[in-house]
Amino acid sequence: MPPALEITDLRKQYPTGTEALKGVSLTIQPGEFFGLLGPNGAGKSTLIHCTTGLAQPTGGEIAIFGHDAVHNYRDARIAVGLAPQELNLDWFLTAAETLDYHGAYFGMPKRDRKERVDELLETFSLTEKAGDRTRTLSGGMKRRLILARAVMHRPKLLILDEPTAGVDVELRLELWHYVQKVNAEGTTILLTTHYLEEAEQLCNQIAFINHGEIVAQGTSTELSSRYGVDSLEDAYLALVGREELSRAHIAEGEEEGAA
Ligand code: ADP
Repeated sequence: MPPALEITDLRKQYPTGTEALKGVSLTIQPGEFFGLLGPNGAGKSTLIHCTTGLAQPTGGEIAIFGHDAVHNYRDARIAVGLAPQELNLDWFLTAAETLDYHGAYFGMPKRDRKERVDELLETFSLTEKAGDRTRTLSGGMKRRLILARAVMHRPKLLILDEPTAGVDVELRLELWHYVQKVNAEGTTILLTTHYLEEAEQLCNQIAFINHGEIVAQGTSTELSSRYGVDSLEDAYLALVGREELSRAHIAEGEEEGAA
């Protein structure tokens, strides 16, 4: 089987002159749970936008399960489900319509759509809200609906762009639980997050991106040992050059102060 996602020498320069991606290469194997971590402005969203056809790369190649994402856009697109960072729901549709329209867009037959909509509303505890317009849903419900929409057409590659930004602890754990289940069932996942604990918990491969370049990749343990530290958080702080913020470092300082 070809890789779920294969990005080769990807470059993106915006018309403003900003070089958001400076030759990024990465490979995600089928079934992996891959985390992309990096500070604000590192190029994470640009990479996702190029992969999902929302931005046009200025150079390089992107293949999704062997389909060229730029030139063979349709086949590539159908293999991908995207849960974007922003709550981009159509406020005039109901929760059920949101899922049904998405399925129809991806060519799912009507009866399959109906079953899938019911199943997903149930999974995400939205059955009672099926007929409610999305604008009337709570923030947590909107977040869950966005994830349900992303998986509606059963994509083989699920891209989650900061899915738990600003959600409460219960919902974060619920979302983790669900994406782990989807991954265990065979869906490949690309996750961007600012929560290192989240990456540590979920991802079996992690890449650090900074200033439009991949600077390190491996498991959480490999990354820690690569930076000569004990945790993914400290490896991340080494990456962004802010080692002085390390909790271990601060604790040491406190002990010395107390002595
Ligand atoms: P991240 O998602 O890691 O925060 P982005 O991909 O959003 O990073 O941004 C990478 C760089 O590209 C930043 O310098 C950002 O300001 C710039 N950028 C992002 N989108 C645009 C755009 N539409 N036009 C111009 N510059 C952009």
